[in-house]
Amino acid sequence: MSQLLPRPELLARLQQPPPGGAWDIVIIGGGATGLGVALDAAVRGLSVALVESHDFSAGTSSRATKLVHGGVRYLAQGNLGLVREALHERTRLLANAPHVAQRLPFVMPGYHWWECGFYGTGLKAYDALAGRQGLGATELLSKRRTLELLPGVNARGLWGGVRYWDGQFDDARLALLLARTAAARGAVVINHCAAESLLREGGQVRGVQVRCRETGTAVVLRSRCVVNATGVWVDAVRDMDHDAADPSADAAAGSAQEPGQAPAEDPAKPATRPLAKPSAMVAPSQGVHLIVDRAFMPGPHALLVPKTADGRVLFAVPWLGKTILGTTDTPRKDLPREPKPFAEEVNFILGEAGRYLARAPQRADVRSVWVGMRPLVKPPDEDAGNTKALSREHTVLVGRSGLVTVTGGKWTTYRAMAEDVLDRCMAAGLLAQRPGDVTTRLPLLGAAPGRPLGEPPGEHLYGSEAALLRSLPGAQTWLWRDAESGQGAMSEAMVRFAVRYEMARTVEDVLARRSRLLFLDAAEAARQADAVAALMAEELGAAPETSAFKALAAQYRELP
Ligand SMILES: Cc1cc2nc3c(=O)[nH]c(=O)nc-3n(C[C@H](O)[C@H](O)[C@H](O)COP(=O)(O)OP(=O)(O)OC[C@H]3O[C@@H](n4cnc5c(N)ncnc54)[C@H](O)[C@@H]3O)c2cc1C
Repeated sequence: MSQLLPRPELLARLQQPPPGGAWDIVIIGGGATGLGVALDAAVRGLSVALVESHDFSAGTSSRATKLVHGGVRYLAQGNLGLVREALHERTRLLANAPHVAQRLPFVMPGYHWWECGFYGTGLKAYDALAGRQGLGATELLSKRRTLELLPGVNARGLWGGVRYWDGQFDDARLALLLARTAAARGAVVINHCAAESLLREGGQVRGVQVRCRETGTAVVLRSRCVVNATGVWVDAVRDMDHDAADPSADAAAGSAQEPGQAPAEDPAKPATRPLAKPSAMVAPSQGVHLIVDRAFMPGPHALLVPKTADGRVLFAVPWLGKTILGTTDTPRKDLPREPKPFAEEVNFILGEAGRYLARAPQRADVRSVWVGMRPLVKPPDEDAGNTKALSREHTVLVGRSGLVTVTGGKWTTYRAMAEDVLDRCMAAGLLAQRPGDVTTRLPLLGAAPGRPLGEPPGEHLYGSEAALLRSLPGAQTWLWRDAESGQGAMSEAMVRFAVRYEMARTVEDVLARRSRLLFLDAAEAARQADAVAALMAEELGAAPETSAFKALAAQYRELP
């Protein structure tokens, strides 16, 4: 197990470029996509730097429905290639990170005589596509068996059900494992450090200026290849490409700069070679999740509603001691960091859950509400010649300046997306050829079988690193116990581990993406903020602030 470098040393490493004066690849964005690329590139032996403006997975990648899935929805659309690829990736992810990604049984209840046969046939086709990688056989269920497996389901009018198998995961903890495994392979990955502008020489992107959001230190990362993996924010970075100055012109005018140091002048001044502003590539759409107690849907099975009143899919998923209800698909024009749910989305989820659960959850039962933004891709006209939609799900675009933009897709296929990105960089001549297929069987840090993810959080999420966790002070001092089971869910040692090994810098980093408490129970997260800050102060030498976190926790409790 490798301890990550303390932050000042990380910043110092960013300031000292590798031999040759430039990184092979700099990645902007520390969500599933960027972290997957960083790990793949590092394992291929490339020099890698990744900057994340907030925290790892703080964008969309901590707000998924937590399913590792082929996508039964895409099956219904006849997109077999996409489903097959995701099913393969599901197998790899469950094997490489078994402590945070596991198989999960789903029950689809049927309330019309034809439903079980109809959906059962489709789900058997899903099994057939998975082939030997299937996680369990699809079965048709009697009404009695459906009620046994899904005790919380509404029995009125129930005919029977179908059970099938897919996967689930802890998205934010998986992101941390990708970051830490990449770091163990030599990548420099840093959070709370934003890309501010791009450097261009001879019309080609040759680096990124980044700024540490804690110290204000600016660093120029010169690079052979720059990957824009900023999710719904990719267009802002593509705009930086449009705005980038060409420092070769500055050098000609005598303003050469030290490698690794920020230029004295703002490199985002008007471009020496103006390009047409790129048209937007992403049309964002938001998805809402509500968290309620397990009492609404006890047992280890998830519930799938294949067609809600307005034709959507709804899931109720047991996760870390609670139940996730979701999701929605609502187009937005803006890109807030913390999107709020719309009243009709909350009403839709509660209304549908009320139809399918024996006990209808009310607004007061919601412990937390979180919203994620999907990057829906629309290839821009002016780059159409260079655009290659590698699948219907994700898009990799190599711009005329050499900026590589990747967006779309889903968490489940992050590894395959990373391979696509690196293959594309090599095909474009931005990186020297290196053999691929290096992460297919690459266990992530701590990989070891864990307890089911439906159970409350605990040491099991640390896999083989649990021994290290137990060696830290406060391993048996529980700050928070799961209210329903009484199990210890967050210890003092976990907070120390988050700071020492998982690069947590703020109270939100700990309570949202290391312990997940903000996502599970926002009021409890607010109550824990001061205790967590006090422990972090011991580890960091300075107390992090808590008021912004408490305001955020209030938002996660608030329903429109
Ligand atoms: C509601 C919802 C449910 C979903 N459920 C599932 C699911 O169950 N299973 C599944 O497989 N997939 C699911 N997905 C899809 C999956 O979550 C996304 O495909 C994935 O998280 C996208 O990751 P990303 O890295 O591309 O984007 P992000 O996670 O948003 O990462 C981009 C990062 O770039 C950073 N950034 C932005 N600008 C800068 C800058 N200037 N400098 C540095 N960093 C910057 C951001 O802070 C952000 O962290 C779901 C998506 C949504 C919206």
